[in-house]
Amino acid sequence: MEGVHAVIRAARSRPATGVMTKQPKTKTRATPSLPRQSQAILDTMQLGVTQANAEGEILYANPAVAEMHGYTVAELVGSNLSIFEASVEQEPTIAGWSEGSTSWTSERVHKRKDGGTLFVRALSDVISGSAGGTIVTGYEDITERRQAEDALREQHEKESLHAALHDPLTGLPNKLLLLDLIDQALGRCKRHSEYMCAVVVLNLDRFHLVNDGLGHTVGDQLLNAVSERLKPCFRSVDTFARLSGDEFGFLLDDISDISDTLRVADRIQEQLAKPFQCGSEEVFTSGRMGVALSTTGYERAEDALRDATLALHRVKSGTAVRHEVFDPVMHRRAHARMELETDLRWAMEREEFRVFYQPIVSLEDGTITGLEALLRWEHPRRGLLEPSEFLSVAEQTGMIIPLGSWVLEHSCRQMRKWHDEISRDSPLSLSVNLSGKQLLWKDIAQHVGQVLEETGLDGRSLRLEMKEVAMLDDADPMLSVLSELKELNVSLDIDDFGIGYSSLRSLHRFPIDSLKIDRSFIEKLHIRRESEEIVRTILALAQNIGVSVVAEGVESPEELATLKKLNCEMAQGHLFSAPLLHDQITELIEGHRYPV
Ligand code: C2E
Ligand code: MG
Ligand code: MG
Repeated sequence: MEGVHAVIRAARSRPATGVMTKQPKTKTRATPSLPRQSQAILDTMQLGVTQANAEGEILYANPAVAEMHGYTVAELVGSNLSIFEASVEQEPTIAGWSEGSTSWTSERVHKRKDGGTLFVRALSDVISGSAGGTIVTGYEDITERRQAEDALREQHEKESLHAALHDPLTGLPNKLLLLDLIDQALGRCKRHSEYMCAVVVLNLDRFHLVNDGLGHTVGDQLLNAVSERLKPCFRSVDTFARLSGDEFGFLLDDISDISDTLRVADRIQEQLAKPFQCGSEEVFTSGRMGVALSTTGYERAEDALRDATLALHRVKSGTAVRHEVFDPVMHRRAHARMELETDLRWAMEREEFRVFYQPIVSLEDGTITGLEALLRWEHPRRGLLEPSEFLSVAEQTGMIIPLGSWVLEHSCRQMRKWHDEISRDSPLSLSVNLSGKQLLWKDIAQHVGQVLEETGLDGRSLRLEMKEVAMLDDADPMLSVLSELKELNVSLDIDDFGIGYSSLRSLHRFPIDSLKIDRSFIEKLHIRRESEEIVRTILALAQNIGVSVVAEGVESPEELATLKKLNCEMAQGHLFSAPLLHDQITELIEGHRYPV
C-alpha cells in the first residue's frame, strides 16, 4: 500500500482532474459525487470497482467487487482496502506507472471473505481533489487465467527437470539421477546396518561394431530395445539408468545379500542372449557387468560407480563368467597399479633401471658361453624389483619400447667392453629378451642394427630371445621381421619353450637358432616322469630341426644330472649363478668353469 500512498501524495500536488473528490464516511452504497447514471453503470458492471480515500478507506464498492471477494457491498464500504490483502508473500507486478504518474496497473493475490484467494488485475487511478485525493480502482478476476498459466509453468518445469535427469534416447534415468539415488541409498545403508544395496555397471560387448557396421540408427534402436527388454528385470525400488554410449548402470536397492545381485545379473544375461530385432536387422549382443556392494562402506555414489566400473574391466573376454564383484583388494591393486605406472614413467629419466646378467653354461665343459641380460628396477621406495612386478605394466603402457631399447643398448655396450677387456677363446654371447610388443614394432630390425653399429658389437654375439606365443601369434608378418633380424647375423632363440600353444610343426618355418626349455619342466624333472619325457622330446625335436637347446632354471645337481643324461648342451640357473651386476660378472667370466 505504500506505493499507493506515494502516488496519492504525488497526485495531491496537482489540480483535480476527476469527479470523485470529497467522500462521506458513511456506510452507503451511494457515491454522492457520482451522477445517478454513472452509478447505475458502475453497479451493473462486471468489472469490480472501488473508490477509496488516501488512507485506503473504501468509499464506494460496486456489487461486482463485493461478489468477487465474497462480501456484500455494505460490508465493504467503510472497510479498509487492506481487507483484500492476502497474507501470502507477493511481489505485485506493477505496470504502467512511473514517478509522477497517477495511474498504474498491478496483478496480485486477494483474499476472499471465506479465506480463499483470487488473482486480480487492478487498474488504479488517483483523482486529486480539495479534501485529499481518492483512488478509483477497477478489478478484473484473473484467477482462471493465472491458474492455467501456473499449471503450464509447473508442467514446463517438470518437463525440463525430467529432461535434465533422463536420457533423451531411451527415456531411462541418466547418470546424474542414478548418482543421486545411489547417494540416498548409501545414506540409508549408513543409518541401518542391515540395509544393503548394490551398484552395477553393464557394458554391451562390441557395440561399436553395430554402430560402425550397421549405422547409428540401428545402434540407437539396439540401445532402445535393450533398455525395454531389461526393464522387467528390476523391481520397482531399483533404478535402471543409461550412463553413456553403450553403458548402463543400476542400483539394486534394499537387497538381502549378494546372491540377489547375481540373480539379476543372470537374468540380464539371459535377456541379452536373445537376438534383438532392430528395423530389418537381427542383432546379437552380450554384456559384461561390474558390481560394487554397499558393504564396502562407500561415502559417495561416485566411488561406488567407479568401483563397479573397475570390476567391469576385470571381466575377461571369452569367458563364461560375465560379471565381477568389486572387492577392496581389487581397489588397492588398481591404486597400486596406477602408482606403478606413474613411477615407471619417471624411472627412465631418474636412471633407476639396472641390467643384471646370468651366465649360460656349457654342460660339456662347464664354461660360460654367454650371458642373459635381465632387467631390474631399483625402485626408490620398494627396493630392487624383478620384471614380474613391472613388465606387464610397461607392456600395456607402451613403455616397453623405450625400456627395451635401453636394455639392448646398455647391455650391448657392456658386452663390447667385456670383449675388449677379457680375452677368451670364443667370444661370449649376449642374450637379450624381446617382448611381443617390441617384435610388433615396425622399426625393430633397423633399431637393433643401429645399436650394433653404435656399440660396435658383432651381430654374431647377440642372441634375441622371444617367447613362442609372441613369435607365432601372427605368423606371416612375424616371419618378415625375423628375416630382417637374421640379416644382421643375430641369433634368434625361443624363450620359455614348451608352455605356449604353438604347433611344433610350424617351428621349422621360423629361422630359429635355439630353444630355451621353460623352467617349469626342469623343476619337475626328478618328480614327474612326464617332465623328463617332455624334455627328451624337445631335445629330439631340436636335433631334428638343427637348433641348440638351453635348459632354464637349473637349481639342483639332480636336475643337472638328468639333463646331462639326456644330452642337453647348455643350462642356466641358480645352481651355477643367479643374475648378477656387471662388476661381479667381470670377476666370474675370466676362465671360470663350473663343475658339470
Ligand atoms: P626369462 O627370460 O625366462 O628369464 C629367466 C628368469 O628365470 C629370470 O627371471 C631369472 O632370474 C630366473 N631364473 C634363472 N635361474 C633360475 C633358477 O634357478 N631358479 C629360479 N626360480 N629362477 C631362475 P627374471 O629376471 O625375474 O625375469 C623374468 C622374465 O622377465 C624373463 O624370463 C623375461 O621373460 C622377462 N625379462 C627380463 N628382462 C627383460 C627385458 O629386458 N626385456 C624383456 N622384454 N623381458 C625381460
Ligand atoms: Mg629369457
Ligand atoms: Mg625363460
